[in-house]
Amino acid sequence: MSTTPTPSRFPSDVYADRLARAARATDAADLDALVITPGPDLQYLVGATASSHERLTALVVPADGSTPTVVVPRLELASLGPAAVAELGLPVRDWTDGDDPYRLVAAAVGGSGRIAVADAMPALHVLPLADTLGAMPILATGVLRELRMVKDPAEIEALRRAGDAIDRVHARMAEFLQVGRTEREVADLIARAIVAEGHEAADFVIVGSGPNGADPHHEVSDRVVAAGDIVVIDIGGAVTPGYYSDSTRTYAIGEPDADIAATIAVLERAQQAARDAARPGVTAAAVDAAARDVLVAAGLGDAFVHRTGHGIGLSVHEEPYIVAGNDTPLAPGMAFSIEPGVYFPGRWGARIEDIVVVTADGAEALNRRPRGLTVLG
Ligand code: ZN
Ligand code: ZN
Ligand code: ZN
Repeated sequence: MSTTPTPSRFPSDVYADRLARAARATDAADLDALVITPGPDLQYLVGATASSHERLTALVVPADGSTPTVVVPRLELASLGPAAVAELGLPVRDWTDGDDPYRLVAAAVGGSGRIAVADAMPALHVLPLADTLGAMPILATGVLRELRMVKDPAEIEALRRAGDAIDRVHARMAEFLQVGRTEREVADLIARAIVAEGHEAADFVIVGSGPNGADPHHEVSDRVVAAGDIVVIDIGGAVTPGYYSDSTRTYAIGEPDADIAATIAVLERAQQAARDAARPGVTAAAVDAAARDVLVAAGLGDAFVHRTGHGIGLSVHEEPYIVAGNDTPLAPGMAFSIEPGVYFPGRWGARIEDIVVVTADGAEALNRRPRGLTVLG
């Protein structure tokens, strides 16, 4: 466990800078304002984690660089973190039942009503807002994409802490993954360790033993772990202030067959090839191809049934997606998973996943546990 408490948010100048950059990106997109309801975009811009509600809470960021406004129901003000709003000097337009919050948003937008809204905004709010503004909003995802994809040093430090924390859980796997326990029992023990090693909560725990490992979407079941199983363990959660870990390792319960060990050795080479390929200027698609080419050359192309990775930060899955067709050039500060897998339906599966951050001349892995098959028991 860490001994120094980590602050629940970054210093306010970090958020002030993000708000200014978001306003410039909004202006560049020829919009009048961003309207951001609770979710990762709100957390990114002001460090507030309110929950979405049938009563509208929204941050309005005008494109002209004037001070953003918070529209919030009076009874939700506390959940927004009044300190966060006060620190940033944001004016608050609180409203009570009977008021029309959409008119408050329209007043804060000021212009013609060309706005972008957070993709997490419920239709419950989008439709009345569009009605009030007389125009349908577009998604803010594209506007904020460049900002959120490239992590600043404070975000990278948070992702590094998340990587270290999840590595400590994988390092303890022999305590949890034992013959005779069900996948669900193993997952409960892992979930407790995810919190004990420094996460706010366990967000996901995949324990895919034996044939269940061949389903990339498997979570847990009541299957009992048996000698001879190959087991995929894919786990993660968020560390304060909200940045996610996500790491997969594959374990063998007892010495595996030689052909299984050989296949997983190829997978390890594929994962390494993608990590080696990741550097500034290389496209996301090229990183996907680097992993895929190794598996195809070994006759395992059909067993690799998903993209190579996804961006990570305040969301577990975000841009950039490491997938064929994504011509986004990588840039320093981008953080994403590299997680090739091989799946043999009805038999077994394996996946190796690290989070990497693009550096000036390559990519740094934030997960450092041995990547090959780890034999337990
Ligand atoms: Zn994962
Ligand atoms: Zn992942
Ligand atoms: Zn996933």
